Amino acid sequence: MTAQIINGKAISDMIREEVKAETDKLRQQGVVPGLAVVLVGEDPASKVYVGSKEKACIQLGFYSEVHRLSADTSEEELLALIHKLNEQSTINGILVQLPLPKHINEKAVIDAISVDKDVDGFHPESVGNLVIGDDSLLPCTPAGVIELIKRAGTDIAGKHAVVIGRSNIVGKPVAMLLLRENATVTICHSRTANLKEIASQADILVAAIGRAKAIDSSYVKPGAVVIDVGINRLPDGKLAGDVDYEDCLEVSGAITPVPGGVGPMTITMLMSNTLKAAKKAHGIG
Ligand code: NDP
Repeated sequence: MTAQIINGKAISDMIREEVKAETDKLRQQGVVPGLAVVLVGEDPASKVYVGSKEKACIQLGFYSEVHRLSADTSEEELLALIHKLNEQSTINGILVQLPLPKHINEKAVIDAISVDKDVDGFHPESVGNLVIGDDSLLPCTPAGVIELIKRAGTDIAGKHAVVIGRSNIVGKPVAMLLLRENATVTICHSRTANLKEIASQADILVAAIGRAKAIDSSYVKPGAVVIDVGINRLPDGKLAGDVDYEDCLEVSGAITPVPGGVGPMTITMLMSNTLKAAKKAHGIG
């Protein structure tokens, strides 16, 4: 039996329609969600991501500001811009595109973003709220992973979820969100002794490793839901996930492709966060 292919593009489009419909309604109340994106330097991949975010804002009718700063911008200048955006009422979300140039302390910049405008969900207070279970803006890629699992029709509660990867931006928050959805969660990493044995017990397997096709069918329990967060560039220029998609297609119950799985969800969840922040700023439930 072949797996259900989880179409991240279609699910992402559906969520964008929902965000757009809500944004149109808000506009009638005089509220326009606003997102500021800050790019420092000329990293080609970052430029593409920032362009996509700007496009998404236009598509959804958000107010958008993109601050493109030169690579030699000082930390003080960047912090001054963040403080200004924190105060600016037309801006509900601030996203600083990472990575930043080496001379800038990333943590100092993330910490300077107002928690209410932390649409990337990386501020320590947002992370703390996620762990405690308080309402907060959720990191975009992990939130996208949960949406994909749910909208593919999987009930997370009571399932054994195995997350491979423990980074602050993907593995750890994905694990916390799965726990919040009442899964029994195991987190694996590069020092995990018996990875294959643990992974193959998962009802829901999330791979966030950063190694092309590291997970083949021998890691997958028959019928498992397999979510591939990995984006790896192969020597031939093509993209590959952390999961060997072709090999796992037969054994999985449902699986995300790369590209077209988790990838499209990230910007969509950023837009959803910006909408949420705008509603909160205007006291709209
Ligand atoms: P990191 O490199 O920060 O973390 C990788 C994690 O995988 C680490 O916890 C590491 O363990 C673990 N790991 C590495 N090798 C192995 C191994 N052989 N066995 C088990 N675990 C291993 O990566 P990120 O979390 O930032 O990203 C993961 C992937 O997701 C990347 O491919 C990235 O490009 C992609 N990504 C995709 C996004 C999207 O929008 N779809 C957004 C963000 C990331 P340890 O902690 O012990 O070192």
